[in-house]
Amino acid sequence: MALDLEKIAMGVRLILEGMGRDPNEGAVAETPDRVAAAYAEILAGVDQKAEDIVNVFHEVSYDEIVLVKDIPFYSMCEHHLLPFMGLAHVAYLPKGKVVGVSKLARVVELCSRRPQVQERLTSQIADLIMAKLDAKGAGIILEATHTCMTIRGVRKPGSVMVTSAMRGLFKSNLATRTEAINLLTGGRATMA
Ligand SMILES: [Zn+2]
Repeated sequence: MALDLEKIAMGVRLILEGMGRDPNEGAVAETPDRVAAAYAEILAGVDQKAEDIVNVFHEVSYDEIVLVKDIPFYSMCEHHLLPFMGLAHVAYLPKGKVVGVSKLARVVELCSRRPQVQERLTSQIADLIMAKLDAKGAGIILEATHTCMTIRGVRKPGSVMVTSAMRGLFKSNLATRTEAINLLTGGRATMA
């Protein structure tokens, strides 16, 4: 599916009206198109496919854990259409072929730039890495602050939600799982 920016702009016009503003008045006349353009960027993952991103593999004889920590990500909570953002820690166990590390960050970006909930986002990253990298295991930890929790609702700034998804050997093999979790959680920078 593709983002319908015209529809998003129409919605923003209604929101402006709901706020008691005239969407045609000078100060906000460009706002609907501006918001639509911002959404196009924030939700760029909607129009992307995994195949566009993870397509170059390197054949190597490496079958130990590959891990990238502290990948910043930005997403949008589909319940409130407010941003949530944080850090992703991604580990996988290759089966003879690896991808450039930047691809792992691209996978995180592809999945996060969509209307999401953090739990599904975590699972999607894990499933995509398992499927596209033909991995023996994948382990993902996400730490995020949700503006729908910090600026509204319970208003608890600083609260961090942590989710994890383990697949393959990271789920079934205790030693691999323990090593992955130690690597994923050990000695990382504290999230701002
Ligand atoms: Zn929310």
